[in-house]
Parts: sequence; C-alpha cells; structure tokens
Amino acid sequence: MAEGSAGTVVVLGTGGTIAGKAGDAADHIGYRAGQIGVEALLAAVTPQAGAAADVRWVTEQVAQIDSKDMDFAVWRALAARCAHWLAQDEVRAVVVTHGTDTLEETAYFLETLLAPDKPLVLTCAMRPATALMADGPQNLLDAVTVTLDARAGGVLVVAAGAVHAARAVRKRHPYRLDAMDSGEAGPVAVVEAGQTRWFGKITRDPSARWSDDAIKKIISREGLPRVEIVLSHALADGRLVDGLVQDGVRGLVVAGTGNGTVHAALLAALERARAQGVRVVRASRCELGQVLPLPNDPFEPSEGLSPVKARIRLMLELARAEA
Ligand code: ASP
Repeated sequence: MAEGSAGTVVVLGTGGTIAGKAGDAADHIGYRAGQIGVEALLAAVTPQAGAAADVRWVTEQVAQIDSKDMDFAVWRALAARCAHWLAQDEVRAVVVTHGTDTLEETAYFLETLLAPDKPLVLTCAMRPATALMADGPQNLLDAVTVTLDARAGGVLVVAAGAVHAARAVRKRHPYRLDAMDSGEAGPVAVVEAGQTRWFGKITRDPSARWSDDAIKKIISREGLPRVEIVLSHALADGRLVDGLVQDGVRGLVVAGTGNGTVHAALLAALERARAQGVRVVRASRCELGQVLPLPNDPFEPSEGLSPVKARIRLMLELARAEA
C-alpha cells in the first residue's frame, strides 16, 4: 500500500438478514435473507464513512444465501476470495457481509485457515434491510471503521457497536440487536461515534499458521472430512454414535454436561468409536467457561472452543493430515 494512501477495502457479500427484504417495514421475522446485492449495501453507507474518503472500494458477491444453509462450496469460495484479496499489497482489509446464524462458524473457519495479519471483518444484521430501523447499515459502517484502525488485525466480527474475536464470538439471542456475544472474554473493542476503542490484545488460536500450499489444498477440496456433534443429556444412549461410526464418521465432538462429562451409555459408545479410529473431542454444552483437563481423559479437550467451533477445528485437522 502506497505511503499515506488509505488503500483498498474489499467488501464481499454472502447474503444474510443484512441483505434481507420483508414485505412490510414492521416485519422483523417474516423476511427473506440474501436479497440485496453487496454493492447496494455498501453504497448506502460510504457517504457516511468520512474517515474512509480516500478508500478505494471493491465489492464482490460471493454468495447470496441465508447463512443457516451455509455449505462448503460457499466457505471454499469465500476463503479463496479472502486469501486472494488479502495478498494484494494495496488491500488494507476485507469486510464480509454475512447472516448471523452461522457467522461464528465462518469467522472461526476463516481465522483457523487464513490467520490473516490484515483485518478480515465480518458483519451482519438482526433486522432486514427493509425494517423501519434496520441495524445493517450501522453495522457495516462500524465494520468499515474498524478496518481503518491501524490496530485491527485477524478475523473480527462487528455487530451492535461491539467488536468480537473469531474464537470467542457466538450468537446468543434469536431476536435482540446485540445477539452476538463473546461470553466471559467480552468484546475486544467497541465502536463509538466512528472511533474504535480497544480493550486489550485479541486472543487468537494458538494453532500453527497454514502454508499457502496447505490453504490451496483445502480450498480445492469438494468437502471436509465428516465430523458430527453429539449431545449428552438425560436418558442419552449410544445408538446415534454407533450409527454414525457405521456410516463412516471420521470425528465426533461431544457436547457434554458441565465440565464435558458424558452420560455412561453415551460414553461407552464414544469409547467404542475411538477404538475404531474415530477422533473424539470433549466440549461442553455450557455456554460459558471451558472444559478443564480431566485425569486420564480418554478424549481430546476442546480447549474452550464451543462444540460448533471444535467441530470446525477437527474437520480442518483431519483434512490437513490427508493433504
Ligand atoms: N437466517 C439469517 C442468516 O443467518 C439470520 C440473520 O442473518 O440474522 O442468514
């Protein structure tokens, strides 16, 4: 990036409620996600992005989906475009507009795979673009504000005035505007009147950085190795696990009770699975905290990752081992 230049900010659209339309401005739930193009979403906010006056904007529509339907084809395309743009000297940051439902999964996938030094900022909305008081434009403007801050880096999620790290963020509420939350870790920053106020260092995943070649191999795959999540609960049994093993599952994440403890019947099935070479990761169904190591733990700990993120890490680890 030339000295003194604000550089290029690339905005990639994937759909979601931020691009959603309802028939009536009071309707917040009966809308269709993924209807408005990313160029139109950005055009509505760039006039307000005063600090971004010198920025060169590039938009690309990578997908136009409801993120509850996220699939590997979209992840693969998104990761490829993010990697492409972040590698260009003149690009200072990439922003991704996304649905809230699987935002935390896409953020963690991109952080684990790409671990970018430059900011890769995902944003979203809880109300469709047609709502009387839509939250999407402000969220997108805040995401742009974060990209222009010299301290920003890595994969971040910006929503409702808060900035979250990819590792901690999760959707915690089905309706509230501040649905995205970082639990005990808290947000890493807030955006106030066009300024980003940071709270401290961003905690990033300690896993080793992937080589460009390893990233290319993942992006060129048709899918990731099959890993499923099973939940431990009252009256659990192991039949689901036995069925999954018979069906060729490669890994299992168990969302256990409390400190990742598992119903005895389910535990026996998970031990049978492990004996057949299936990798088993122990996570917790509790929303806060993290599973602590148990003496003689038969399974791998999730190291504080939620079950959905532990699943992504395991899928990527299995894929990486195959490459
Ligand atoms: N179902 C929508 C999506 O994830 C919800 C949202 O964006 O808030 O695409």
